[in-house]
Amino acid sequence: MAWTRDAMLALDARDPVAASRDAFDLPPGVIYLDGNSLGALPRATRARLAQVVDREWGVDLIRSWNSADWITLPTRVGDLIAPLIGADAGEVIAADSTSANLFKLAAGAVTMQRRQNAGQGRRVILSEPGNFPTDLYVMQGLADLLGDVELRTVPAEGLADALTPDVALLLLTHVHYKTGRVHDMAALTAKAHAVGALALWDLSHSAGALAVDLNGCGADLAVGCGYKYLNGGPGAPAFLFVARRHQDALHPPLSGWMGHAAPFAFGDDYQPAPGILRHLCGTPPVIGLSALEEGVKVMAGADRDALFAKSRRLGDLFLELVDQRLGAHGFQVLCPRDSARRGSQVSLGHDQGYAIVQALIERGVIGDFRAPEVLRFGFAPLYIRYVDIWDAVDHLADIMETGLWREARFHERAAVT
Ligand SMILES: *Cc1c(COP(=O)(O)O)cnc(C)c1O
Repeated sequence: MAWTRDAMLALDARDPVAASRDAFDLPPGVIYLDGNSLGALPRATRARLAQVVDREWGVDLIRSWNSADWITLPTRVGDLIAPLIGADAGEVIAADSTSANLFKLAAGAVTMQRRQNAGQGRRVILSEPGNFPTDLYVMQGLADLLGDVELRTVPAEGLADALTPDVALLLLTHVHYKTGRVHDMAALTAKAHAVGALALWDLSHSAGALAVDLNGCGADLAVGCGYKYLNGGPGAPAFLFVARRHQDALHPPLSGWMGHAAPFAFGDDYQPAPGILRHLCGTPPVIGLSALEEGVKVMAGADRDALFAKSRRLGDLFLELVDQRLGAHGFQVLCPRDSARRGSQVSLGHDQGYAIVQALIERGVIGDFRAPEVLRFGFAPLYIRYVDIWDAVDHLADIMETGLWREARFHERAAVT
């Protein structure tokens, strides 16, 4: 059927999670399809940050570590994130950046494997080419540091066969940042376990975007991002997950004082805290964690089944409209068409992708561009409406039909794309 703008408005009117948009402060005239890069600002965050800065820091000063409960923020936020990713309370902590957490968990996993399988030659970290750059860079640095560890990358189709007994750790991003393709977490984790490897999942484009069931899949370890679908704000702290069964055996490589069993005993010798707490390193970033807590609360309070069903529908409709209206303009669909295999984003390929995205941004439709040719549109289901999908494709069609993208100003590259 040929969609109309009115049909989209009707879908919005019937949307059971439409009201969650009211929790956000969105600028007028903007269609924000980049919540997969930086989530929008929840209204509650502004008041919370004013409270943290003006009262807790400004007046109560250091007493706030106790009186405002700053000290429990990392575990409190971790416990709020846990149900979003199929983890239990006590298995998730908010800390550091995703990059740092990748290092912490991968180094911990590889050295745990070494202790538990002495002499078995398990020395490979397996990932895929084209994984998010930081995931590969951090593993390259870790391999260099440890000396006897190798990073091996194998294209997605070959991963199951590449799980051989020399693999210590499988590291994959659940939803691919460029193509939106979803890995079969349950099957790949089971295959990893069958050869004695551990599985570490990067949930940066999954948490808050689609249903994730870490414990249902038997996952060992996971990391993820706080500033994307969790709406924690620019540079928000990330999170990490360690399955309960590994918590005593996994030693943190960054054995900082905040992960000590008794940080305020100020002893000379490191003793890891029990449970997930040992994966803290230094003093928690209170302002960032407070903002993240507000972002996660919005997601935690929503009907996630309805939210994730909506997010799949938004992607399907976007693709239908692209087929309907952009057929003649040289776009390729780079994401899976099957919404069960796609994250909450649509990726299109076009050799003029950069300029087209800049022209869209000038029109108030904010998506992003990923080199060399990917136009990426993220659908944060908490605040994107069906009518936004229509209007975004409408602008895109107009930019292509008028050739607006050809104008010189859309071809100048900024530092951040
Ligand atoms: C966004 C993203 C990150 C971000 O890592 P930072 O340390 O926060 O810069 C890491 N991995 C993936 C897969 C991502 O999408």
